[in-house]
Amino acid sequence: MAIAETTIASPKIKHTECFIDGRWRPSISGKTFQTVNPATEEVICDVAEGDSADIDAAVKAARHAFESGPWSKMDARDRGKLMFRLADLIEEEIDELAALESLDNGKPFREARYGDLPLVLDCLRYYAGYADKIHGSTIPIRGNFFTYTRREAVGVAGQIIPWNFPMLMVAWKWGPALAAGCTIVMKPAEQTPLSCLRLAQLAKEAGIPDGVINVVPGYGPTAGASLVKHPGVDKIAFTGEHRTAQIIMRDASESLKRLTFELGGKSPNVVMADADLDKAAQGAYIGLFLNQGQCCCAGSRVFVEKKVHAEFVDKIQRLAKNRRVGNPMSLDTEQGPQVDQAQFDKIMSYIEKGNAEGAKCVAGGARFGDRGYFVQPTVFDGVNDSMSIAKEEIFGPVMSVLTFDDWEDLVKRANNTFYGLAAAIWTKNVGRAHEFAKRVRAGTVWVNCYDVFDAAAPFGGFKMSGQGRELGEEGLKAYTESKTVTVSLDS
Ligand code: ADP
Repeated sequence: MAIAETTIASPKIKHTECFIDGRWRPSISGKTFQTVNPATEEVICDVAEGDSADIDAAVKAARHAFESGPWSKMDARDRGKLMFRLADLIEEEIDELAALESLDNGKPFREARYGDLPLVLDCLRYYAGYADKIHGSTIPIRGNFFTYTRREAVGVAGQIIPWNFPMLMVAWKWGPALAAGCTIVMKPAEQTPLSCLRLAQLAKEAGIPDGVINVVPGYGPTAGASLVKHPGVDKIAFTGEHRTAQIIMRDASESLKRLTFELGGKSPNVVMADADLDKAAQGAYIGLFLNQGQCCCAGSRVFVEKKVHAEFVDKIQRLAKNRRVGNPMSLDTEQGPQVDQAQFDKIMSYIEKGNAEGAKCVAGGARFGDRGYFVQPTVFDGVNDSMSIAKEEIFGPVMSVLTFDDWEDLVKRANNTFYGLAAAIWTKNVGRAHEFAKRVRAGTVWVNCYDVFDAAAPFGGFKMSGQGRELGEEGLKAYTESKTVTVSLDS
């Protein structure tokens, strides 16, 4: 059978309730909400709608597990073993999990299976290996004392995640938290609760004790806000919009919780005239269109040096027009629908603004099909810095191409945004590449590549793109407190 004819069967939905203290429970209010298949606009199923009462129960379970449950007494190496076991269970049902992700989120099955899931496994295993390697240091101080530091778990971590990479965000959050010895209350995004709930069951089957991981599906202003405000929570790790992070910061101020944020972006992707243009175009294409453009680090401002602008635009518009949009469950699909009606409407309004403000649409520019939240891969040429599509995060398959011919001016324009998540440059000039890497105010810089992620490499934003870092050692430390112990050596 040709690969194009192969379609993945719909996965079984096994879990739709709150997961608290190792048990599945309906929400205390009895309320539910619907989760929708974005490719068909049909309801997949009803999911328990948790609110402050469910969050309270979950936090109590997490608090108990942290303070007096088996987790608090477990050897770090055994904690690591359970995490490795969780990764093994995920790997055993990798196809089904990828299908579940694709169903709820709309991303192509192929991308979930061969992109997201391998990163999920890597992240969990990377941090599983870290569990028994977390330690402080000894510090020589003045006088007859012995001083050392300990790295201890921060406590109960409240984790609020978005819908664009549902399972990967679970791994980024659970991995370091579990390795550090924290317990967890997670609120998945209301658009995509299903894969997170399945992972909670696998965590139970892996032997992670009751109360260590709790999942409460529900909405942001109710379940999310109660988690942020709950006095039993020590830290909030949040991924989402900067406007939500501002609310969370205010809500968390009462109890002065530790906060880490991974937020939006308007990342510059610079194509120099000396670059390998085919590679640069392919990199810009992936850097923007990956995951339907729903990436916080999307290279949405593509700055092209004037000399090669026409050639670049010709390549990129061809790539965009050839992108295979359609049923996410078909193995040859490259782009699925946007996650929901609200995102679809927002993206279409930016396409309208792009046209109205005078940019030139050279590919796409319209809805794809008549059912599901599909948007054609769209490229605007002739964009200038003051247009809405050059300033605001669109979070969809809409690329803005801008031109430059002066290096100093380019660096200034690349930094002319309140975001600072990622940046990239395509060039053969090593000096220029490193200079750009130094001068651009962004948490990640890619040179002659884009969207290269690894569990060991820290990720996060400058400016309003975030606070703190996830992944790597920095990501782990964000789930720890440092304690200084000083012992008198006087006899
Ligand atoms: P997006 O626009 O990508 O959905 P959001 O920042 O709105 O980004 O959502 C990301 C996550 O934050 C979701 O799980 C959402 O439910 C949650 N959220 C939204 N508002 C709040 C809030 N006031 N407090 C806590 N969490 C929230």
